[in-house]
Amino acid sequence: MQELGIIRKMEDNGRVVIPAEVRREMKWDHYTPLELFYDRGGVLLRTYEKSCTFCDSKDTVQLFENKPICQSCIDRLKKI
Ligand SMILES: [Zn+2]
Repeated sequence: MQELGIIRKMEDNGRVVIPAEVRREMKWDHYTPLELFYDRGGVLLRTYEKSCTFCDSKDTVQLFENKPICQSCIDRLKKI
């Protein structure tokens, strides 16, 4: 992880603006879904990618009953 040397204050409602150069580098726009992780060391933001509910694969994922599931798991479930 790269230190940016940028300090931002959190707004009253908890918002923090991500610097434009970071958004450009990450190819994030205002519709990009982001996933947050945290531990005692801090907070990490990542581009959210749907992953399969059963196997965690990110390939060929589609929603079924509002749950992400990959084609491989769909094929396996059809055999049950
Ligand atoms: Zn799967």
